[in-house]
Amino acid sequence: MSNPQSAPDTAHILQRFQQIAQQIPYQDLGEIAGVQLGIKRLDCIHPQISGNKFFKLKYNLVAARAQGYRQLLTFGGAYSNHIAATAYAAQLFGFDSIGIIRGEELAERPRNATLHHAEQLGMSLNFVSRENYRQKQQPSYMAQLQRHYPDAYILPEGGSNLLAVQGCEEILSAQDRENYDVICCAVGTGSTLAGLIRASDTRQQVLGFSALKGCFQADSIQQYTRAQHWRLTDDYCGGGYAKSSTELRAFMQDFEARYQIPLEQVYTAKMCYGVIDLIQQGYFPTASRILLLHTGGLQGRNI
Ligand SMILES: *Cc1c(COP(=O)(O)O)cnc(C)c1O
Repeated sequence: MSNPQSAPDTAHILQRFQQIAQQIPYQDLGEIAGVQLGIKRLDCIHPQISGNKFFKLKYNLVAARAQGYRQLLTFGGAYSNHIAATAYAAQLFGFDSIGIIRGEELAERPRNATLHHAEQLGMSLNFVSRENYRQKQQPSYMAQLQRHYPDAYILPEGGSNLLAVQGCEEILSAQDRENYDVICCAVGTGSTLAGLIRASDTRQQVLGFSALKGCFQADSIQQYTRAQHWRLTDDYCGGGYAKSSTELRAFMQDFEARYQIPLEQVYTAKMCYGVIDLIQQGYFPTASRILLLHTGGLQGRNI
């Protein structure tokens, strides 16, 4: 395995990521019921590799390049922000990419926006049945996949692994540790939250809003940190991943009109809804300074 001549080396990848990360905008949302709100706009990092997926990919791309892999292979559903981000990052840094997509039946159907863009960026899509897709974490399936794609660096679903957690530690800056008491973030697999917990000050509270029912991510978060200054709630998941209610849509429209910040209904809208609801319930002490993390995901917004 050798790098194509034109592919950037690891130092170049790191430098490129650093440049983009330095320009993340903040927006002051003023005060709600005696609590100060600010938002860190990871959605503004990049139109395609937006939000937390950017940080999750960083050290995985570096590892893939350092180990001489020519391809990136990963998994996702048809609307996956991780698939979109991986396809883009692969093209940007000179990797071929392969997406294992849940749902055999989708192979023959017209592509939605996420899959269309992924293909345009050169990702080859491999549609598998739901049963096969479910095996993706089993060692035997992984070994078989690696034999089939010997040149591929395999990223887990959602891009979630230790290198992703390490990348997400860099979401928080020294100012974020000083200027805020609470950090709020949407949760899918929990890797992003784990990174935030590891990077935050123990005097801060890190609050995760699960997009899925059950808070089962707590186990994997605890594999990455022993810290205690965090909490995970599924009170605002609205019944589960991508289940959206009319109330949530109305909230999104209102939030966007008020602050000129677009949200999407799977992750960020639920988190913002939850934070504002908790503020109104008096959950946070008066004068708390809360940082909302906008994790992006806007590429899959029109579903
Ligand atoms: C993937 C994603 C998350 C969840 O990230 P995890 O590390 O899987 O918890 C949150 N917000 C958006 C917009 C995402 O795309």
